[in-house]
Amino acid sequence: MSASPRAGFVDGAVITAPGETLDVIDPADGSVVETVGLAGHAEVDAAVAAAQRAFPEWAGATPGERGAALLRLAARVEARAAEYAEVESRQTGKTLRLATEFDVPGSIDNVVFFAGAARQLEGLASGEFDASHTSVIRREPVGVVGSVAPWNYPLQMAMWKVLPAIAAGNTIVLKPAEITPLTTLMLAEDAVAAGIPAGVVNVVVGRGPVAGEALVSNPAVGMVSFTGSTPVGRRVMEIAASRAARVHLELGGKAPFLVYDDADVEAVIHGAVAGALINAGQDCTAATRVYVQRPIYDRVVEGIADLLASIRLGDPRDPDTDLGPLVTFTQRDRVAGFVDRARGDGATVAVGGEVPAGDLAKGAYYAPTLITGAAQDSEIVQEEVFGPVLVALPFDSDDEGLALANDTRYGLAASVWSRDVYRTMRAQREIRSGCVWVNDHIPIVSEMPHGGMKQSGFGKDMSKYSLEEYTVIKHVSWDISGDARKDWHRTIFKDRNRP
Ligand code: NAD
Repeated sequence: MSASPRAGFVDGAVITAPGETLDVIDPADGSVVETVGLAGHAEVDAAVAAAQRAFPEWAGATPGERGAALLRLAARVEARAAEYAEVESRQTGKTLRLATEFDVPGSIDNVVFFAGAARQLEGLASGEFDASHTSVIRREPVGVVGSVAPWNYPLQMAMWKVLPAIAAGNTIVLKPAEITPLTTLMLAEDAVAAGIPAGVVNVVVGRGPVAGEALVSNPAVGMVSFTGSTPVGRRVMEIAASRAARVHLELGGKAPFLVYDDADVEAVIHGAVAGALINAGQDCTAATRVYVQRPIYDRVVEGIADLLASIRLGDPRDPDTDLGPLVTFTQRDRVAGFVDRARGDGATVAVGGEVPAGDLAKGAYYAPTLITGAAQDSEIVQEEVFGPVLVALPFDSDDEGLALANDTRYGLAASVWSRDVYRTMRAQREIRSGCVWVNDHIPIVSEMPHGGMKQSGFGKDMSKYSLEEYTVIKHVSWDISGDARKDWHRTIFKDRNRP
């Protein structure tokens, strides 16, 4: 590595950038994990140019060749799995347990999935849809993809962006969140080590308004794929709209967790707490709005409160720790602000609602928090908190529960809890979100799509549906008549066209 801090990995090599640097901080204790450089316009433009140069060869590789390269990448990531988990935990504060059991194996499974899925891409059957032409459908890569990713699952988000893009024959420039770039840089190095040609996977580390905007506004970027907050997503879409570039947006969420009175109360309590605390609540699909039908409301709220009170906060590397710190002190203060304002609005903080004192004060910790008595239209119910905070609210009729579940601008994920097949069937149909879990909340698999409705965005990550996002359909129409004077020319030449 060069003496200056690295600011990316472009065209098969580490790059540096003049000017500003940034410390990547371990939020468990505020220590510096690594100092990185911050790319500006020039570095981003160079990365896009490298991706453009690499495109023809990579697009021309067969799906089998691309799949084989991805399998080699999977083997490399697997060989460094412990290192990936350690770095991911250090730069985000997530527990090593979560990184080891969820982030890294999920990522490896993604690579293996796309190695195979890319080989199964096909178009509609071709044929003669009029007597004198044969139609052929080609599915082609878009070109250079410009991707921007968030900090909550840096490795997984990088995988979700890179894999479908390159499996389909595109090349990519990815800007990770500048506070958590390290595992994304590891991935770019491993891609080259696995034999994926230099320039196919490029990473630039930089700030959103600088490197992010330089990337999404570069005219050579044929598709912009963004995961992050809804306000920034809107901005990215505006920039891409100025040149009519294709856009894929995975934005925020505020998942409802809808509990009917016949549900398994123990399953509900454990599901709500696990669903709310996954990744310290910094998960776009986290269970945040727990609506419980009145007859079992008190039992469920009491159970959630007891379970939350048993959660062990601590060192993310300690195997006994349930909950680590939030990603930054800024994020912790943001979460605390939401809870304080909810208190001010008249809601009750039933559990937590504080920054822990003592040894934990050196990290960005926030106590797991349960809020009751909030108004449906209040900020804490409507806005994405992105922390270990859940709100419980009662409802009476099934109609009311469904209306409350749908009453946000978001539509990313939801769950319904009941033993009644008719209730669950109605709810999965009527809830407006990209995913509905029934009697569970959170599990994802590589084969199934992830993506939102409403202001949670559009487009799918993972699964064969994401490959469709990263390809364009071309219709090729072949004349098979051999006639010099085509029948349809009569619309121009009238009878003069007859032989
Ligand atoms: P964010 O929107 O602040 O930042 C996301 C990325 O955009 C970062 O890399 C950032 O540097 C970049 N960025 C910021 N301003 C930009 C600009 N003007 N132009 C281009 N890029 C810019 O989001 P965050 O705080 O990093 O992540 C949390 C958000 O991500 C939450 O809202 C969460 O719900 C969302 N998220 C969504 C999904 C999903 O699949 N729908 C998955 C994970 C996270």
